[in-house]
Amino acid sequence: MQRNIENFDVVVIGGGPAGSTSSTILAMQNHRVLLLDRDTFPRYQIGESLLPATIHGICKILGLSEEINKAGFVRKLGGTFRWGTNPTPWTFNFSTASTISAPKAYAYQVERAKFDNLLLRNAIHNGVEVRERHAVTSLVFEDGRVCGVDFVDADGKPKRALAKYVIDASGHQSKVYHHVGERIYSNFFQNLALFGYFENGERFPPPRDGNIFCAAFSEGWFWYIPLSPTLTSVGAVVGKEHAELLKGGYEQAMNHFIASCPEISRLLSNATRVTEGMYGQLRVRKDWSYTNEKFWAPGVVLIGDAACFIDPVFSSGVHLATYSALLTARSINSILIDGMDETLCFGEFEKRYRREFRNFYEFLTAFYDMHQNEDSYFWRARKVLHSEKSIEEAFVTLVAGGSSLYDEDQLVDTENIEKIKQELHELENPEADAAPYFGAEKDAFLDVLVQEATQIQTQASVGARRGDEQPLFEGGLIPSADGLRWRAASSAALAAGD
Ligand SMILES: Cc1cc2nc3c(=O)[nH]c(=O)nc-3n(C[C@H](O)[C@H](O)[C@H](O)COP(=O)(O)OP(=O)(O)OC[C@H]3O[C@@H](n4cnc5c(N)ncnc54)[C@H](O)[C@@H]3O)c2cc1C
Repeated sequence: MQRNIENFDVVVIGGGPAGSTSSTILAMQNHRVLLLDRDTFPRYQIGESLLPATIHGICKILGLSEEINKAGFVRKLGGTFRWGTNPTPWTFNFSTASTISAPKAYAYQVERAKFDNLLLRNAIHNGVEVRERHAVTSLVFEDGRVCGVDFVDADGKPKRALAKYVIDASGHQSKVYHHVGERIYSNFFQNLALFGYFENGERFPPPRDGNIFCAAFSEGWFWYIPLSPTLTSVGAVVGKEHAELLKGGYEQAMNHFIASCPEISRLLSNATRVTEGMYGQLRVRKDWSYTNEKFWAPGVVLIGDAACFIDPVFSSGVHLATYSALLTARSINSILIDGMDETLCFGEFEKRYRREFRNFYEFLTAFYDMHQNEDSYFWRARKVLHSEKSIEEAFVTLVAGGSSLYDEDQLVDTENIEKIKQELHELENPEADAAPYFGAEKDAFLDVLVQEATQIQTQASVGARRGDEQPLFEGGLIPSADGLRWRAASSAALAAGD
């Protein structure tokens, strides 16, 4: 077939948060980047509750802080839960984490159509060539290495773009991830979500009125996310054994779930479901939690939901998508500009990304044990982070996207970096044993993650320390001062860590 061929430094598949973040950071370093999305923006997407690490870290790097602050999104100071054995709802505030400075102790609840569109327009503003209604059909290979993509343009014409690297940021529906490795589904999180939108749902009194509310009920749990003073995103997450209920129609199933959850019934007692426009339908998502066995192969990298996805109870999706985008752009910048080794850079990307994913995964397996009270969850967060902090603070640090904050000064954005460095040393716990938390499941999914935990233990046992001047992994890399590339840890810094 005759194809029109173009050349770029990098081709990015998908214009969600992962695709627009990675492409913008690459364009900031003057690479020629083509981003293809099959949809037309603004487009609908689920995943509306964000974490402070995204707002104050990634959006700042992207130069979007002011625009995001002016966009009118609902301010989220934390989360409120009706969970575990405690019948009374309890609340966590981001301000509890000492690593987050008081003025930054919030995130936003966003309409994703609006938020993703802001990120994509910002990519264009930074020089990314964005083409909407362009669907990638396959990868192009040369000598076993990925060297481009085939796609169909907005007029249905087949085209080809060649590049030094292809980033797959096309989400859970990726058509090309299997070229990198197998997608391994979790045996533990086998749920489905049924969700829709309501007008005039009740609000908690301030300052909790912008919080996400998660309420457990007999068949699962609900999210309740205020998107404006009147619009609320409401979703029921239930085990796949309840899928039968959907056969009677989504509306009937939703009404059944709402009736089973007294807190959500009360909040929605005067509300009406939106039945028109972008929010007018009830939707279902299955294919719950998974990770790819590998995140990169020669010439191609998986980021965001194309690489891995975890149950949304702590709103980690956009955080993981944008964090992995930063790590991958940093790697490609270092390879193309500084001539650094591809295996070293992508190895660093993959280890850091898996570590962040694992932190959420480990903690969530415990959180799903609904028989515990919140003190137990707090304790589990503390173990996951190997933290000596107060239990409540460790919990909030984790669910703020804060475990990555310890490794990424660029995501921290606090006035008090020295204090954090000090805490990093306290965080080291050579006795800490991550392995028992994997004991509950012996599936292949966790085996992959155990490798990463073992590396951390090895690192701890030889006395290496984490920190912005120390590699996170033995022989690993550290972020450059501007955060846009990697650099080797200096021998002086390594010696200081001995
Ligand atoms: C029920 C549920 C609730 C969630 N709640 C939250 C939450 O509260 N907070 C949170 O942070 N996260 C949440 N998430 C997760 C969040 O939705 C995702 O993690 C996030 O959208 C991932 O971003 P991404 O950029 O990787 O992919 P996406 O946002 O999915 O973007 C992928 C893009 O790729 C494009 N694309 C796909 N295929 C092709 C192709 N062949 N060619 C070209 N373009 C293509 C698509 O059009 C799309 O625009 C939730 C997820 C679910 C399922």
